[in-house]
Amino acid sequence: MTTQNQTNTTTAANKISTYLMFIVLIVMGLAIVSIFSAVYAYTLGSVYEAGFMTIIGVFGLTLSAVVLYQNSKRSAAMKVEAPKVMTYIECKSCGTKTSREFQRGDFVFKELDVCPKCPEQKQMITGVYKEIKEKEKTYTI
Ligand SMILES: [Zn+2]
Repeated sequence: MTTQNQTNTTTAANKISTYLMFIVLIVMGLAIVSIFSAVYAYTLGSVYEAGFMTIIGVFGLTLSAVVLYQNSKRSAAMKVEAPKVMTYIECKSCGTKTSREFQRGDFVFKELDVCPKCPEQKQMITGVYKEIKEKEKTYTI
């Protein structure tokens, strides 16, 4: 239950970068096409057109390269800032252990709501740890 939020945000980030990748690929494809047309125009002797097409091609390639670079830098930053802190809760009476995302004001030995199984016993925070995440997939460009 507690890990759901985390996976949701990861997939959302992946979706954005996939969408961005799609656009970048289109721009890159158009840039390559215009460079080819520049070469073609040059062989036909229209130097002015060839120069124009080259400028468009180079501009497109530069733009997509910059976007890719920015995106890889940002996704790297997102990966670094993401370690989740978990709060571990235990009922001293029945020993039920649960965990959830850390909330402001959590501290070890803090008493929480009563245990769902034992109406008399309050649950207590027994630990606050940084979650050890398994290695995430990365897009290498
Ligand atoms: Zn209990």
